[in-house]
Amino acid sequence: MRGLVGSHQIAVIGAGMAGLTAARDLQAAGLDVVIFEKSRGVGGRMSTRRMDALAFDHGAQYMTVRGAYFAELLKSSALADAVAPWGPKDAGRFVGTPSMNALPRALAAGLTVQTERTVKALERVGDGWRLDCAEGRDERLFDAVLLTAPAAQTLALLPADSELRGPVEHVRYAPCWTVMLSFDTASSAAIPDSQRPLSGPIAWAARNSRKPGRDSSPENWVIHATAEWTRAHLQDPAPQVIADLLAAFREITGHIAEPTIRVGHRWLYALVEQSAGVDHLWSPAMRVGAAGDWCIGPRVEAAVESGHALALSVIKTLLPKG
Ligand SMILES: Cc1cc2nc3c(=O)[nH]c(=O)nc-3n(C[C@H](O)[C@H](O)[C@H](O)COP(=O)(O)OP(=O)(O)OC[C@H]3O[C@@H](n4cnc5c(N)ncnc54)[C@H](O)[C@@H]3O)c2cc1C
Repeated sequence: MRGLVGSHQIAVIGAGMAGLTAARDLQAAGLDVVIFEKSRGVGGRMSTRRMDALAFDHGAQYMTVRGAYFAELLKSSALADAVAPWGPKDAGRFVGTPSMNALPRALAAGLTVQTERTVKALERVGDGWRLDCAEGRDERLFDAVLLTAPAAQTLALLPADSELRGPVEHVRYAPCWTVMLSFDTASSAAIPDSQRPLSGPIAWAARNSRKPGRDSSPENWVIHATAEWTRAHLQDPAPQVIADLLAAFREITGHIAEPTIRVGHRWLYALVEQSAGVDHLWSPAMRVGAAGDWCIGPRVEAAVESGHALALSVIKTLLPKG
């Protein structure tokens, strides 16, 4: 029976920061929420790449906090241990601890997350929705479906007659080649923990092992190439990209030791270059919505605010007196 608190089943596609925030708010309002996530774990681009005992934050590097909602969320007791300030004093940067992925993992506590479930299509059944997944059809009937995958994947799932498609079609992302390096020999302490060179192929280099809560040895670095360089080298093989970015890294740091680990990762959708220009999308008639950093801009906080804004709209529709 619909219309009672707790009787609405909501499907959230994607367990990145937007999906987790929306799910958390909806569950707190008394709705039943199931998250479908195609990867093995939660966090999306706020991710940590593990290699044996090593861990690299190879997606988002840090978070900044501008608005009240994210500030309050980070201060909540459930998340306090998963976040720490990092970087120059007063820079206002925060990182997940002991890894970036710790924050989404803490956010996911108490939520129902079905991992390794790739949603392929939404199927309308009466006034509800069923999900067709790569791993098989899910038999539950959902009252609402919230899409929080990157814009291209969200567009692929939005019904052909949905009025929400327009703003999503305009979204553009920059790609990013990332290289992870581990050294047995520590670099000079005079080299700053993070750098943004003004020229050359590197946009950002950070000594990952000096972030709070990480093992300081061996010394690990994460390098992000600029969007321009990545576009020019998008189809290059990873070993070539690693060699090019290692050479540029040596130039800016003077650290010439041979890395014991060198791994490349190509993000096709890294940072939002052109957003949808709305903080979320919601169709009360279809009961389909969408959220993600792509609604607002290229930041973790944008994903959180978008997920929160979507949850408020859903609550207003499904629990109008709540
Ligand atoms: C290299 C890089 C560096 C960055 N640096 C910073 C930074 O320093 N500071 C900052 O604030 N931000 C940074 N960002 C951006 C930040 O990571 C994102 O803005 C934020 O994490 C996006 O969250 P999201 O929930 O909108 O999307 P995502 O994190 O992309 O989450 C979407 C989720 O949907 C899942 N999914 C996709 N399709 C399907 C499907 N069909 N079925 C089921 N699940 C699906 C994905 O697996 C993913 O888990 C960086 C990003 C990258 C890649």
